[in-house]
Amino acid sequence: MKIIVNLLIVFILILNVTEACDRPKQGNNIEILQSALCNDDGISIRYCDNTQVEQGCSDCENCTTISREETQPWEYGVNDTCDTTHYIKQGSSRCTLKPPMRLSSKLSVATQNTLAIYVDANFDKSVAPTYETMKTLSTYIYKYFNDSFDFLFIVSNNVEIPDAIHYYGIFYPVQNSIKGIGKAIYDYTEYYGSNGKLQGMMHFPYRAGINNGPTLHELLHNWANSLISTGMGGHWNYTGFFAETSSGAKGQIGGFDASTFQDEGDGKYSAAGFGPFANGGNSLPYNDVELYLMGLIGLDEVGDVMLSSNPEYHSYSNGRKYFTADSVVRWQFPALIDELGVGDREPSSQDSQKSFRVLTLLVGNTVPTEEEIEEVNRYMNKFTLNAEDSESYFYNFYEATGGRATLKANSLKSFIK
Ligand SMILES: [Zn+2]
Repeated sequence: MKIIVNLLIVFILILNVTEACDRPKQGNNIEILQSALCNDDGISIRYCDNTQVEQGCSDCENCTTISREETQPWEYGVNDTCDTTHYIKQGSSRCTLKPPMRLSSKLSVATQNTLAIYVDANFDKSVAPTYETMKTLSTYIYKYFNDSFDFLFIVSNNVEIPDAIHYYGIFYPVQNSIKGIGKAIYDYTEYYGSNGKLQGMMHFPYRAGINNGPTLHELLHNWANSLISTGMGGHWNYTGFFAETSSGAKGQIGGFDASTFQDEGDGKYSAAGFGPFANGGNSLPYNDVELYLMGLIGLDEVGDVMLSSNPEYHSYSNGRKYFTADSVVRWQFPALIDELGVGDREPSSQDSQKSFRVLTLLVGNTVPTEEEIEEVNRYMNKFTLNAEDSESYFYNFYEATGGRATLKANSLKSFIK
């Protein structure tokens, strides 16, 4: 088994050595590797495991032991045209990603420092991981990383959602200590291997889920919805919202824009097209009530809410969704909080957490390609940018919160135990 895994994690590099090699920057073990790379007219290197390197051969029978520390980054010669923090030069023009930093036979950290990579020949990325699998992964993460993360993103290394997985994303609640949002107080951190920091864990069955969504949606499940009983667990269903503070009325977890609402008579109502579960992945920001539950705006800042009693889908035409309900009632939000009797949010928006950190784990049964690692890294950089990004269609976390909160993923190596 170990041999199979080791073979899977082999990396092959072909170097053109007409470029001058600089002296190695680190200790003797690196120097051994460096000199091997520079002495011949092109040499292929296979890594057999953490401590061995094989030169110029196609199998792993003749590995030369080197004194590399398990947690030491793979480090190569500096050249003059590649960004040497993340790349080495391959051939005369191409920059190639450095191999990830190895932490164990299964776990490594991508050189770009925004994601970890988990490779296990037995991992089936075509099916949804079970609760037990998620706990195994998180426990494994904490074997090598400090307990510094609010959230864990588990991303199966797929280009599309496999047929056997019936969701875009799923949220595993780990801990809640916030009062006034309708959630119970609970702490399951020890089951996940966290010492008390972790709040929630998410699985996304394909890589693009980080960029396209539902990353914003699943993150929001850390806070919502347990406030309003909507007839659809965790989501807004046929609840309507006015946008006072936020740039959007429709919610990340469903609901309609109340400014488009119409009473059609005879217990029939309509609003501009919307989804009871979701409204388009990361293509919309959080609405007022969502920002309130996240602790990012105050009670008095939230726009009015329309509550539907026993809503049922009726029909859809000309961009409008028609539904029936026993009643649809407009509430001022502070009055609704009074009515629900959940009390003030504690901590308030003044004292709440505004900065979060996520660890992203790309998981699969084979080593991800350079392109796959770069793709996830690009998504993570964009989603966690502490500013507006250049793309207008999808919102990153900063944009979705109106700049009120940030999510960090960078410098992952600095959190290694
Ligand atoms: Zn959801």
